[in-house]
Amino acid sequence: MFKRIKGATISGIEAIPIDIEVDATRGIPSLNIIGLAQGAAKESKDRAVHCLANSGIKLPPKKITISLAPADIKKSGSGFDLPIAIGLTSIALGLNFDTNQFMFAAELSLDGRLKPIRGVFPIGVLAKNNGLKLIISKENAKEAILSKALVYPFEHFLEVLSFLKGELKREAKIISVEQLHERESINQLDFSDVKGQYKVKRAVMIASAGFHNLLMVGSPGVGKSMIAKRIPTVLPDMTDEEVLETTKIYSVCGLLNQDNPIILDKPFRAPHSGSSDVSLIGGGVNAMPGEITLAHNGVLFLDEFPEFKRNVIESLRQPLEDGVITISRANAKITYPARFLLVAAANPCPCGYYGSKKRECTCSVAQIKKYRNKISGPILDRIDIQVNVPEVDYEKLSDDRVDLDSKTMKETVQRVMNIQRERFKNEKINYNSQMNEQHLREYCRLDSDSHAVLKMAVDRFGFSARSYSKILKIARTIADIDESDNVLPRHIKEAISYRALDWDV
Ligand SMILES: [Zn+2]
Repeated sequence: MFKRIKGATISGIEAIPIDIEVDATRGIPSLNIIGLAQGAAKESKDRAVHCLANSGIKLPPKKITISLAPADIKKSGSGFDLPIAIGLTSIALGLNFDTNQFMFAAELSLDGRLKPIRGVFPIGVLAKNNGLKLIISKENAKEAILSKALVYPFEHFLEVLSFLKGELKREAKIISVEQLHERESINQLDFSDVKGQYKVKRAVMIASAGFHNLLMVGSPGVGKSMIAKRIPTVLPDMTDEEVLETTKIYSVCGLLNQDNPIILDKPFRAPHSGSSDVSLIGGGVNAMPGEITLAHNGVLFLDEFPEFKRNVIESLRQPLEDGVITISRANAKITYPARFLLVAAANPCPCGYYGSKKRECTCSVAQIKKYRNKISGPILDRIDIQVNVPEVDYEKLSDDRVDLDSKTMKETVQRVMNIQRERFKNEKINYNSQMNEQHLREYCRLDSDSHAVLKMAVDRFGFSARSYSKILKIARTIADIDESDNVLPRHIKEAISYRALDWDV
């Protein structure tokens, strides 16, 4: 006797189809599972057996084998409980119900209740793409219907059985077009809450517009975190594709709110400086995405940047370069998306008060140099904009200069993104920050006045070649904000001011 049931497992942030085959032959009664089942998937057999026993279904005294195919793909997660239980039941009761049009994905409690699993959203997408109806637990229903699959949610294993036998009628749950477009941002933050930091807010706007990674340098309490948290509010709204991708990531991590299981706001993640490389990068025993993947399409904020471990910082190199992270496991590689705007924050010196008017810095020049060296190197090379966040002078808060709010900043960012889309339509890049030397020659041609300004700055401050090209990239974005085809001396001058760490101590 043989039965094949369809299920799925998660690899990266996608679901892949798995066939669950159950076969019973003559021999010493036994029950085995084969086909690279890992962790929770390995235990599926036991939960399924208990569920059957508690539902009054007896297994025949035969040699029963459960095979998960294809055999060479590692299977993890508890979603195999239900398809295994269905397969065993059909063998035990000799039922020949048609399960070919269904995909099954739910965990079972020992008494047969269906429990939610992680990754039901990408599994729904897979079912939809394969023309299969999806049977899942009731608690996963809202997340599953977002995939636009035909979804059948159930509370108990016996209900699923009655449904398959045709004794219980159920209509599929589907999402309406109106529901899909019911989009509402939950981000209540706004840059108008940040007072008297015009220069920093402008730096944020430039960083967001040209996708320039940003480092904020300032004493404790000046509002670096407050500013960072508001950066997602000035980034353009996510496209449908980005919403889908981001929702998949949060589904796989089990982080979706089951009442409102869709991610519409650009993510903001702020891992602690003590974070391990696994929690930041992903991987580990259960092969889960890390913080950098949760920040995909949004902002990764590393506060107290110099306190992060060297190897953790080093592991950001590939994602900053390629927008993905590849993690090697025993005999497989997993790739997760990880394209984010990196926003880092640091104190200006070990005590935190170098340059402060409120407290005196107690650090020696040597200590400050050593501290700054900690944040130099390959990652700092990928941070274009470095801005000082000053202490706010409360007497100057009534500055008559127009302050920036999130709406105004976002409109500017969107406009500059459109300019870049047009500029790079025949290139393989999207943003000014991604320009190489050849792009710089093509798109940042300087007139003699601009050249003179830049040369003077290089002579005076001793900028490296790398700083030089960063200044050009930032100046290009500033010129775009200005809607100027040419990079002018004032754009260069402003760009130079965003290289805070280039100044001497
Ligand atoms: Zn100090």
